[in-house]
Formats: sequence, structure tokens, C-alpha cells
Amino acid sequence: MIRFEETDNPDANLSLTVSRPIYAGRTAFQAVEVFENPTFGRVLALDGIVQTTEADEFVYHEMLVHPPMLAHGAAKRVLVIGGGDGGAIEEALKHPVEAVTMVEIDPQVIELCRAHLPSICGDAFDDRRLDLVIGDGVAFVADTGRRFDVILVDSTEPVGPGAVLFETPFYTDCRRCLAPGGILVTQNAVPFLQGDVARDACRRLGRLFADVTLYLAPVPSFIGGAMAFAWASDDRDARRTPVETLARRLAATGIESRYYTAEVHQAAFALPPYIAGLVG
Ligand code: SAM
Repeated sequence: MIRFEETDNPDANLSLTVSRPIYAGRTAFQAVEVFENPTFGRVLALDGIVQTTEADEFVYHEMLVHPPMLAHGAAKRVLVIGGGDGGAIEEALKHPVEAVTMVEIDPQVIELCRAHLPSICGDAFDDRRLDLVIGDGVAFVADTGRRFDVILVDSTEPVGPGAVLFETPFYTDCRRCLAPGGILVTQNAVPFLQGDVARDACRRLGRLFADVTLYLAPVPSFIGGAMAFAWASDDRDARRTPVETLARRLAATGIESRYYTAEVHQAAFALPPYIAGLVG
């Protein structure tokens, strides 16, 4: 029986049965694998690390997108950095936005995900509100004069092409690209296994934004417990949006979520001390 073994952590790793190999190759930026697993359905791995799976992507993508969108309450312009599988833009486009700009460095990830994992992106890549930019997210935020209400960093791990998306120059440019009241959310791995990733992000973001914290979601294909998203805004009230307001805004969108609710949103910001200590 073929198995896929994650390669990033020598002490503890995810091991999945490969019931059907779909694709394995290299792009100009990274190694890409797509395969089927009986529990997770089709799985996307980049450089030996699972990025998303058909079965549990809803947890990750709903929790990346809906907390900042519904806490903001009137986001019209959204920027997604990375996110080649299309799951983040699919969730963002469920909101009444004017435009979602997605900046992905690797066009082959988009092509492979559209071909082999179409349930994750749905019709998002055909949505006329999508502005797809193929390029480096760091260069985009350094150069653009546009402003965004919500910026979502749907990056790979802080190795390979995604490493620069965890650095202070990128965060500084993201802050400049946020409209007043804007919110930045970045994926920050699993704190139990990679606490340094979340700690470094909070330290760097804390020097730039008035309000920085983490919030959590348990994504079954990311081993080691809940994963963390970093939250950064100059609006200190955004993350304290009352649950009734979140519920009213969610109902107004008509979104039928499978993980996100207003109550789950509020609970996600409750941090156990071992994770709260990473916020600083
Ligand atoms: N949900 C995933 C996770 O956290 O495991 C992330 C998924 S998404 C596939 C990550 C994307 O970020 C990849 O498609 C990769 O090509 C893209 N990426 C990495 N570095 C980037 C950069 N500097 N600029 C833009 N996109 C980048």
C-alpha cells in the first residue's frame, strides 16, 4: 500500500494512505502532489506538506475568511495572497464584495487545483468580481496603490516561496494597503508543534498594528491540535464585535456554512494560556 508521509517535522508527521495517486510533479516554485485518501478525499501537498483536502477544507477556508469579513461588516475590496486552491476566494466571493484580488505566485497550482480539486474552488475562478494576479504577493503589496478592507494571507509554510509572507517588510506593506478599519488575517500553522511561527508573527505584527491576536480552528489534516490564524487591525473593536451583530451579518449574506457560526467565531478568540502566551 502506498503512503504519503509529510516531511516537515522529523518527530511527528501526518501519514496518509494513497488510495489513488492523481498527480506528482515540480513547478518552477515547488513540488506538487495530488492524491486520494479514503477519509480526506483528494489531497493537495506542496513541498511534501499537506495544504488542503476535499473533506476538511471547509474548516480552514471558512475560518480564514468569515471572521474578518463579518467583523468588518462592510468589506467591499478583499485581497487574497496565495490561496492557489481557490478555497479562500470561493468563501470571500460569497460576501457582497465589489472585488476580490488574488495574488498567487504559482499559476500551475491554480491549474492543477482547478483540474483535480474542483470542489474546493467551485466557480470562483470564473466570477467577474475576481481580479487574478499571477505574481509574488510581497512585490504586489510593495507596489500597489490600491487599498483593501480585508487582506487574507493564505500562504504555504514559512519555507520555500511562502517564507517572505511571514516577514516584517511584507506585514508593513499589508498595513499600508489596508483601508481605514481594515483587517489582516494570516495563516500561522499549529501552535503546539510550530509555536515559533505564531510567536514571531505576533511579535512582528504587534509592532505595526494597534490590535494583534490569534484565533483558532481545528483542521483535521493539520496534526498537532488547533491551527492558529493571526489577526491584525488598527480597529480595536473589530474582534469584539458582538455575537448578535455577527449572526445578523451572517444571515444577511445567506451563506450556508458548515463550520463557521457567530458563536464559533466568538469562541475561536478564546485562547488557552499556552497559546495566549505566544501573542505577547
Ligand atoms: N491552506 C494552505 C495551508 O495553509 O496549508 C495554504 C494553501 S495555498 C495552496 C498556498 C499558496 O501560497 C500556494 O499556492 C503557493 O504557491 C502560494 N504562495 C507561496 N508563496 C507565495 C508568494 N510569495 N506570493 C504569492 N503566493 C505565494
